[in-house]
Amino acid sequence: MSDAESLHDTRPDMEGLFLGDDENDREAYQEAIEQACDLVLGEFLDNATPYSGVTPDELADTLAQFEMLPSEGDGLETALDRTGPVLRNSVGVSDPHCIAHLQCPPMVPALAAEVLLTAANQSMDSWDQSPAATHLEEQFVTELCGLFGYDEAESDGVFTSGGTQSNFVGLLLARNRILLEEYGVDVQQAGLPPEARDLRILCSEAAHFTAKQAASHLGLGENAVVTVPTDNEYRISVEAFDEAIVDIRANGNRPFAIVATAGTTDFGSIDPLEPLAERARKYDCWFHVDAAWGGALALSDEHADKLAGIEAADSIAVDFHKMFYQPISCGAVLVRDESSYDLIDRNAAYLNPERDDEAGVPNLVSKSVQTTRRFDALKPFVTMQTVGREGLASLMEYTINLADEAVELIERDSDLHVIHESELNVVLFRYVPESVPIEMTREEWIGKLNEAIRDSLLEDGEAVVARTTVDGINCLKLTLLNPRTTREDIRSLLQAITARGTEFETNPDEIRQ
Ligand SMILES: *Cc1c(COP(=O)(O)O)cnc(C)c1O
Repeated sequence: MSDAESLHDTRPDMEGLFLGDDENDREAYQEAIEQACDLVLGEFLDNATPYSGVTPDELADTLAQFEMLPSEGDGLETALDRTGPVLRNSVGVSDPHCIAHLQCPPMVPALAAEVLLTAANQSMDSWDQSPAATHLEEQFVTELCGLFGYDEAESDGVFTSGGTQSNFVGLLLARNRILLEEYGVDVQQAGLPPEARDLRILCSEAAHFTAKQAASHLGLGENAVVTVPTDNEYRISVEAFDEAIVDIRANGNRPFAIVATAGTTDFGSIDPLEPLAERARKYDCWFHVDAAWGGALALSDEHADKLAGIEAADSIAVDFHKMFYQPISCGAVLVRDESSYDLIDRNAAYLNPERDDEAGVPNLVSKSVQTTRRFDALKPFVTMQTVGREGLASLMEYTINLADEAVELIERDSDLHVIHESELNVVLFRYVPESVPIEMTREEWIGKLNEAIRDSLLEDGEAVVARTTVDGINCLKLTLLNPRTTREDIRSLLQAITARGTEFETNPDEIRQ
């Protein structure tokens, strides 16, 4: 037997396993996608509404029936059937009563784009792995820079996995800049010098935890982050900021980065961007705006002025998988001055050969902390082509109005108390009991009651509402990101909340433990 024959004999059967040109392969792909589509329309939409109520133990038991690494497979149809329990017990993110987190219902145009981008499987690290995709991403980023008031010719950016990575990159550039410009240290080569101990980052106490996480990953330590108190509206207090920065300097430390948040996770508050930009200039600090959530306001003629000052940011984090209604993951980090990327320049001979640079062939790997990277830009591209900026803005504007209506409904109900109404679409409130069991403080009882209300709504699969603490006491949180939610949905949810609150008050033993 010749070598060629034996190789042929051992070639595995691949029918239907890869995208291919012949009729069978085409049909197999079409059928696979159609079956997946049926599961979404059936198992997922029919059952995940908004949650099945199944407990962690039950879920573990359900999944224990499957071997994750079986030695032999059973074919695609059976495989897809087995995803049934996973889809059924997922959170119904598109359900009008799923209003807990910054987890959006994904838009259908973007889901269609997701089918395309996974099939094309372009990798954004080098041009020769993603030629058209590279240019699409670049053009999208350029116009996005313009939307935030950057000069399109000077600014730049890149898609990221989300706010965590975007905040990390913003602070990475900030750290490398200060160490190079002020201490003459090229951190990329030399690592952190002893002076790095003196570096400080300022953000508000309501900032996202990833500011501290980034400081830790950057070798500066979480203690390098000074959290400044907020005002009554949960925005950074400029007065407190001024005191903090004076203190930092008086102690011989070097404030080098200011992180402002446009849309704090718990309160939807927007830090005063203009005064902070001014201080960044005065103290020669990098100004990063974490607009992971609130960045979408830039789409809206009505709300864009809430972001006034963002154009002065050295870097901006924006997430599309929040108020741009794109499926996870989809975000970007933008920089006002494209030459900032020199601070993280890295030449991998096989990905961005110097020859490419000279020929003007863009290899996006040089702007990203990822190497292999998804073509996520296709999702907002298809979405924008479908509904336009104004169409997308109108969805978000509706949810901001809905939050105002929710506040009005809560205020009308004497059992409920509004704690915070945000500039975005989040509402914080509490169920307030009439009396308190003798062995508890009022605060403890309010905390327990609200937690029990939230848990029972989830267990019964009625609504997914969030819980957080304000001033050390539990409260309920509605993140009204979902444009499918109506005023009537809010009204029925509030009724369910007061009914449960009243029931727990009548039978405190149910939650006393
Ligand atoms: C969601 C969020 C983040 C984290 O972003 P991911 O996309 O989850 O990585 C950071 N900051 C803010 C303000 C956010 O809302």
